[in-house]
Amino acid sequence: MRYTETKEQTAELLRLALGHMGRHEAAFNPITFTLWYEYVAGINPHLNTAIDQLTKDASSIDDERVMQLYKKYIAPADQETMTSISGEMERLMASVAQSASQTGDRAGTFGDQLAGLTNALSSRDIEQLKPRLTEVMAGTAEMKSSADALRQTVTLGHEEITRLRSDLERARDDALRDPLTGILNRRGFEQQIGLLLAQKSTDGISHCLVMLDLDHFKLVNDTHGHLMGDRVIQAVGEILRTSITNTAHSAARCGGEEFAILLPQTTLDQSVQHAESVRARVKAMKIRDRSTQEVLLSVTISGGVAEMKPDDDAASLISRADAALYEAKRAGRDRVNSS
Ligand code: GH3
Ligand code: MG
Ligand code: MG
Repeated sequence: MRYTETKEQTAELLRLALGHMGRHEAAFNPITFTLWYEYVAGINPHLNTAIDQLTKDASSIDDERVMQLYKKYIAPADQETMTSISGEMERLMASVAQSASQTGDRAGTFGDQLAGLTNALSSRDIEQLKPRLTEVMAGTAEMKSSADALRQTVTLGHEEITRLRSDLERARDDALRDPLTGILNRRGFEQQIGLLLAQKSTDGISHCLVMLDLDHFKLVNDTHGHLMGDRVIQAVGEILRTSITNTAHSAARCGGEEFAILLPQTTLDQSVQHAESVRARVKAMKIRDRSTQEVLLSVTISGGVAEMKPDDDAASLISRADAALYEAKRAGRDRVNSS
C-alpha cells in the first residue's frame, strides 16, 4: 500500500499539508491535497526534490504547476474516478464554506446585539436593558445552534474526506496493478525502481533486479490457445507474488509473459537463489483440466539477475538484467543467469 501512516500520523500530516495548501496559489482540490500530503509525508523523494527546487526562490505553486507535478511524480488514477472524486470534494468544500459563512454572518449580528447591550448597560437605561438582554439571550441560542450546525458539517466533511481519500488510494493502486495477475504492472514496477534509485545509498548495501521471461510461450499459445496462455501467466504471477516475504520487495508483470522482481537490500547470491526458487516452482507447476484434473501442460521460465551499481539509472539496471536473461535463453532456457 502506498500510504502506511497511522491515524495519528495522518492527522499531523493533514495539518501540515493544509498549511502548504494555504501558502500556495493552487485551488484546494484532491490533486493539490495529494501532492502536499505526499510532500509532507516524505514518501515520494522525486516529488520533494522537484517542489524544493521550485520553491527555493519563494515562488508559489499554482494550479498548472500542481498538475505538472502530479502527472510527473504521482501515478495518475484513471480520469473518470479522478473527475468524480474532484467533483465530490468540491461539493464538500462548498458546503463547509457555506456553513462557515452562515456562522460568520450570525456572529456579526450577535456582535451587534452585544454592543447594544453594552450601550444599554453603560447608559444605565433600565428600560432599554430588558429588551437588550432578551435579544442577547435569543442571539446566544441562535449562535449555539449555528456553531453546532457548522461543527456537524465539518465532522461530516471529515468523514467524507476520509472516504474520498481511500477511493483515491484504491484508484491509484488499480492504476499500478496488472488486472490479470494482481501484481504490479509496468508503471508500478517503474515507480518502485524510481523509489529505490532515489533512496539508494553508497554505503555498500546491495539491491538487485530479477527479470524473468517464459520460455517458448508462443508455442504454448499456438498449441493450447490464448486463454490457456493467460491461465499460465496468472499462475506464474501467483508464484511470484507468494515468493515475496519481505514488504520492501516487489513483483511485477512488465508486459506479456515478462516479469520482474525488485529486491532491495538483497545480495546478488540471495537474489539468484530467489530467482532460482521461482524458476523451480514454475517448472514444477502443472496446469490441469479443471474437471478431469488431467495435466494439460507445464512451462519453464528463464531469469537474469543484476545488482544495482552506484551510477545506475532505471534503464541501465534493466538492461543489465535483460542481458543476463538473454544469456540464460541462449544457454538453453529454464535457468537463471546473473550479470
Ligand atoms: P522465448 O523462450 O525466446 O522467450 O520464446 P517466446 O515464444 O516466449 O518468445 P516471444 O517473446 O517471441 O513470444 C512471447 C509470446 O508471448 C508472444 C505472445 O504470443 C505471447 N504473449 C504475450 N503476451 C501475452 C498475453 O497477455 N497472453 C497470452 N496468452 N500470451 C501472450
Ligand atoms: Mg518475451
Ligand atoms: Mg518468452
